[in-house]
Amino acid sequence: MLLRMSTLFLRTLREDPADAEVPSHKLLVRGGYVRRAAPGVYSWLPLGKIVLENVARVVREEMDAMGGQELLLPALLPKEYYEATGRWEEYGDTLFRLRDRKGADYLLGPTHEEVFTLLVKGEYSSYKDFPVILYQIQEKFRDEARPRAGVLRGREFHMKDSYSFDIDDAGLQESYDKHRAAYIRIFDRLGLEYVIVKATSGAMGGSASEEFLAVAPTGEDTFVRSTGSDYAANVEAVTTPAPAALPVEGLPEAKVHHTPDTATILALVDFLNGLDLGRDFTEADTLKNVLVKTRVPGSDEWELLAVGLPGDREVDFKRLEAALEPAEVALLEEEDFAANPFLVKGYIGPRALLDNKVRYLVDPRVVTGTAWVTGADRPDHHVIDLVAGRDFTPDGVIDVAEVRDGDPSPDGRGTLYTARGIEIGHIFQLGRKYTDAFQVDALGPDGKPKRITMGSYGIGVSRVVASVVEQSHDDKGIVWPREIAPADVHVIGTGKGDQIEEALRIAGELQARGLRVLVDDRKGVSPGVKFTDAELLGVPTAVIIGRGLADGVVELRDRATGEREEVALDAIVERTVAACRA
Ligand code: ATP
Ligand code: MG
Repeated sequence: MLLRMSTLFLRTLREDPADAEVPSHKLLVRGGYVRRAAPGVYSWLPLGKIVLENVARVVREEMDAMGGQELLLPALLPKEYYEATGRWEEYGDTLFRLRDRKGADYLLGPTHEEVFTLLVKGEYSSYKDFPVILYQIQEKFRDEARPRAGVLRGREFHMKDSYSFDIDDAGLQESYDKHRAAYIRIFDRLGLEYVIVKATSGAMGGSASEEFLAVAPTGEDTFVRSTGSDYAANVEAVTTPAPAALPVEGLPEAKVHHTPDTATILALVDFLNGLDLGRDFTEADTLKNVLVKTRVPGSDEWELLAVGLPGDREVDFKRLEAALEPAEVALLEEEDFAANPFLVKGYIGPRALLDNKVRYLVDPRVVTGTAWVTGADRPDHHVIDLVAGRDFTPDGVIDVAEVRDGDPSPDGRGTLYTARGIEIGHIFQLGRKYTDAFQVDALGPDGKPKRITMGSYGIGVSRVVASVVEQSHDDKGIVWPREIAPADVHVIGTGKGDQIEEALRIAGELQARGLRVLVDDRKGVSPGVKFTDAELLGVPTAVIIGRGLADGVVELRDRATGEREEVALDAIVERTVAACRA
């Protein structure tokens, strides 16, 4: 490959685009890699297309190596497929819907589970046909509520999506593990710093799902990691280690106190500390009972649920939703309190909950033998020294308190802190959701039909391009890892003599040696502009043919380290090849 900047369809910009907030958006636009066509819709210009294809090539190589087979399905899909699984409705406004001239409804595929499932159903029928892993690299369409940050969150974007089909759960696990290993190789080759987080705790028997997050402060996903190990997880999946149970013998008796105007925890703690009870209280000594209601799918009955947790923590609603999935959760409304007069706002205690058969789940820290200050179920009254396992026995444990910096890591090594990441990949054991919807069976060796089980796995190919830039840039521009750089070497000729002819000659030789070459052969462009462009574009290695040419020297530059080296003209080809292969 040899690209000449004198004719290349490329215009770099000096100014950041007005709508750009994150570095990758600014630099990809300024470097002429992409251009915005509509909100969340981008054109890939020649250099951008090369980078995008390079990412796709790495993905393809690793998918093929693990036994995946590439195909290409349409993006324009009939509504019926997605109606069969309920996703025509479920997707809501995110789905691009359209209608043909005959009035039939279509959509632009946001992801392709339905289509792959039907394809396999049509072609395969015997257990001998399985397992099979199919994938494609294709544009996907989602009418995102907030398209953002250029190609990081587009409405049209490039995704590698693959689907595994297996006879049994052990097979699915194998296909999943293959994908996981392939993803690790892909993201390692792309030079990304990433973590693999469990998408949900799976506490409710949910199927395995993990996300690959590129670590970046501009990422939209929050996750927690440990100071003492490589533990990383989504906030929803963090588990709180339960302290050991304590003996209840000899603990003081529970005692109700009149605590006027203490409907908030701070007011309560202040009040108690003014009572001279011979000890100091903090918010962590109180047991707060948070009431919500839940509804299982398919039912219209809401059921009360009380969550008991230390008063210095809030319930994290996302953790609560994840823990209760697939049931829905909602906050109580005034009429719920009115319908349940035993719920005395600000003074709710375990007694009334348990006496009235409200399901009562507590934080893992509320173990047997811990003593709490909590509501006494009448206005202006609290009970002190209410002991778990002695004075009340909850219905179970629920781990939904907010996770805080400094909390112990679940693996026992180090403490947790919050970080941000960009979701670049997602692997998911779907199970039989789609094969049930479409009744996909294979005839087993015994002649009986067996329901196929599936996995689905995505990589955001265009998002990866932006994620690499988020992690690999400086104040001058992009610093591409060689594997996906638009070129190996940027040969720059500057000066009034025959530097440009010389640059073209060297570029030709480097190309003949197998390097991918970008050559700046523009006439009448100042050296300053050429250097600025080179740094913005971010090709890993640069060869500069400038004033030194008269003395037979040229310069080799490394974009990442900034190192410069004078090299004799007749040695530059060898030296550059060596630098690019290092
Ligand atoms: P997000 O939570 O970021 O919206 P998602 O969980 O909806 O993503 P998946 O359905 O898991 O996305 O899609 C697989 C992969 O496609 C994601 O891991 C991500 O890398 C990429 N992707 C998803 N949505 C977009 C988008 N709007 N623009 C670019 N890439 C995307
Ligand atoms: Mg996802």
